[in-house]
Amino acid sequence: MSVSVWRDHSKGADTIAVDVAVIGAGVAGIAVARQCEKRGLSCAVIEARDLAAGATGRNAGFAMTGLADPYEALVERFGRKTARELWTVSQANLEEIVDDVVGGEGVECDLVPCGSVVAAWDEAERSILERSCAMLVHDGFDVCWLEGDALFAKLGSRAYDGGIFVAKDHGIHPVKLVTGIASRLRAAGVHLLFGHEVRSIEQHKSLVTVHTSRSTVTASYAVLCTNAYTRTVEPSLGALVQPVRGQALCLEGVDQSLRALLYTDDGYQYARPLPDGRVVAGGWRRAYADEEVGLGDEWSIGVQAGVERWLRERWPQWAEARVTHRWSGAMGFSPDGIPLVGALSDRPRVAYAVGFTGHGMGFAFAAARAVMRRVLQEGDAGIFARERLDRV
Ligand SMILES: Cc1cc2nc3c(=O)[nH]c(=O)nc-3n(C[C@H](O)[C@H](O)[C@H](O)COP(=O)(O)OP(=O)(O)OC[C@H]3O[C@@H](n4cnc5c(N)ncnc54)[C@H](O)[C@@H]3O)c2cc1C
Repeated sequence: MSVSVWRDHSKGADTIAVDVAVIGAGVAGIAVARQCEKRGLSCAVIEARDLAAGATGRNAGFAMTGLADPYEALVERFGRKTARELWTVSQANLEEIVDDVVGGEGVECDLVPCGSVVAAWDEAERSILERSCAMLVHDGFDVCWLEGDALFAKLGSRAYDGGIFVAKDHGIHPVKLVTGIASRLRAAGVHLLFGHEVRSIEQHKSLVTVHTSRSTVTASYAVLCTNAYTRTVEPSLGALVQPVRGQALCLEGVDQSLRALLYTDDGYQYARPLPDGRVVAGGWRRAYADEEVGLGDEWSIGVQAGVERWLRERWPQWAEARVTHRWSGAMGFSPDGIPLVGALSDRPRVAYAVGFTGHGMGFAFAAARAVMRRVLQEGDAGIFARERLDRV
């Protein structure tokens, strides 16, 4: 956000010195701070609002492998090796959440091992998904094809006639996830600065200075984890991350027939059961692509009505169910759909991990490792490296 000279009250603000200043307290920022803590680096997480105020606190809690595009489309676009790597990296990301964050560090986040079904919306999607499933099995991924009664047992709807089942995918409570990690980090000495809006980031020689609305943070490195909001903090990255709005709703009074995360119509429609018996669903962005952009967090009647109509048509048993919550959030889309890790060309100590393209739960922990590898010059950012865009 820009600030006029008249409204700038930051002069004389507190100064904090740390090794790494992380900007943004969503899942990406918290995952980067966790990496800093593991490496013994002092760290401050600087957040304009509060924990999970952005997309992290507004998503559907799908901890899923892969991207929205089916595997065959990824292979066509990026080649087999890159497609396989994308799936491998997101699988490792999921294992890190399940085994390390929840299993090892004891973070409570309503993790449900229900698996996911990427189901065919129509005949065309069915063929591409069937071929994708065969390719995934060939490449060693633990997935299988479901149809008929086996699919019905997962979805509770006869409106789908085929889909890929990924048994290791989980449902998650995204706010509990980041709150649990943040509490542990705070106890370990990580500074969590909420309500500190970053106004500018300078680098002079090897010192980075982050000026916020209420503080000045000096650091050896800064990492931008501002996803959709990146352009408001660092306009030079504006073209790299497009803000796209996603909407969701919560339905109560449903039966328990939906038993897996459901992703369909290339990810444009999705629904999942919650542990308390409700259903969270969202999507319908395809029909409103031109309107569903920007950083606003209002919801719209057209999208919400589309999601509701879809649910009631395909699960007639939910006809009497009641919508309890409607919301939206701003996602950051990268040019090719793969998250971006890089550093500013004019301030090389200012790195970024952004552009999660609707899949931050599936990639943020892996991207946090990649950005720290890059910052500390231990290696490159692998599949996330921003430099890939220059080669296209
Ligand atoms: C409706 C919806 C459903 C979704 N469903 C899923 C899903 O099921 N699974 C999945 O993997 N992904 C899903 N996503 C996408 C997912 O939520 C994002 O990919 C992920 O949360 C991105 O995390 P982040 O930390 O990069 O960004 P954010 O969570 O958006 O965090 C960025 C933070 O930066 C802060 N910030 C901005 N400007 C400044 C500043 N100047 N100074 C300081 N701080 C600043 C913001 O306040 C914000 O808290 C969904 C998104 C939406 C909107």
